[in-house]
Amino acid sequence: MGVFNHAEFDNHEQVIFCRDENAGLSAIIALHDTTLGPAAGGCRMWPYPSINDALTDVLRLSRAMSYKNGLAGLSLGGGKSVIIGDPERDKNETLLKSFAGFVQKLGGQYYTAEDIGIGINDVKIFAETCHYIFGYSTDPSPFTARGCCEGIKAAVMHHLGRNDLQGLKAAVQGVGNVGKILCKNLHEAGTKLIVSDINPEAVAYAVDNFGADAVAPDEIYDQEVDIFSPCAMGGILNDDSIPRLRTSIIAGAANNQLEHPRHGRLLREKGILFAPDYVINAGGMLQASSDIFGNFDIDLIMKRITGIYDTSLEIFKLSEQKNRATHEIADELAKKRIADATGQQKVTP
Ligand code: NAD
Repeated sequence: MGVFNHAEFDNHEQVIFCRDENAGLSAIIALHDTTLGPAAGGCRMWPYPSINDALTDVLRLSRAMSYKNGLAGLSLGGGKSVIIGDPERDKNETLLKSFAGFVQKLGGQYYTAEDIGIGINDVKIFAETCHYIFGYSTDPSPFTARGCCEGIKAAVMHHLGRNDLQGLKAAVQGVGNVGKILCKNLHEAGTKLIVSDINPEAVAYAVDNFGADAVAPDEIYDQEVDIFSPCAMGGILNDDSIPRLRTSIIAGAANNQLEHPRHGRLLREKGILFAPDYVINAGGMLQASSDIFGNFDIDLIMKRITGIYDTSLEIFKLSEQKNRATHEIADELAKKRIADATGQQKVTP
């Protein structure tokens, strides 16, 4: 299958296939849209079974970054990169520097950062040979968790008519960097937690610190809760999981939670309010992007993260008025923001 007729191709501006045999590097960088500014989005390292799987992921993720950055009000376009390989087995300094060299050659059209399989220490290695890096000065996860919490509050207000989280029940899938802080925030707001993770230590942390009940990874979908919060992997809202869900709200950090857009429509038909992931998980990007512009201003960052509440509420209300799925409304708002900026002068990092 070619790129232009790939199902996930959405007029991406550039798709760059990077190969360095000596370094063992196979990677793809996708720049979806740079109308608002240089493309920005993390680098994922994953043992994709095929090039086509890697291409599918990078095309979807880079488009989501255009929409995330656009709706968050950032002067940044959407991009993402994937390194094909097992981070446990294949990651080494030579490979990371080789990848960074490809980003450097793009001359600032694309800024990269951490993602699944690429941590802050890896990004610091990128920074040795590449200027176009962000998200290394502070861990973005607490900001992402805070933004998710704003999205959850907006969903609870819209769907349950309540302006607090006291006494509600939430099931959190994945208690890693974001999930565990989200658990802390929800616990402090008086929400009862059920958690799952494939890492027993992560589960134990949530049980010990936030009084969470633990369930096996596959059982998380069956829990009777007010909020289901996916904070692990994408594609988990699908034909298998949706019929099992016993929640009124889905709001979490994981990217690309809907396996297919039709699953967003299915959730709406079932009366489950879905907070689009890229809308409510933008907190980390709002913080990390200050590395690009060199303008770290914690008050402004927190103000914008708090604004995720209003953006989410607007999307939920429009979804109701127009009888459309929430992710469709979010996509439309993001596309409008990008279209409105067409031809305008860009803010230069
Ligand atoms: P992480 O790797 O620290 O945590 C993910 C957790 O999910 C891990 O503890 C892992 O063991 C667990 N997990 C994996 N498969 C699972 C399964 N099948 N069931 C239950 N648990 C499972 O990642 P993170 O930084 O916390 O990010 C979580 C999600 O949020 C990812 O999808 C990421 O792309 C997205 N996200 C993160 C940020 C951020 O600031 N870190 C920002 C935006 C989006």
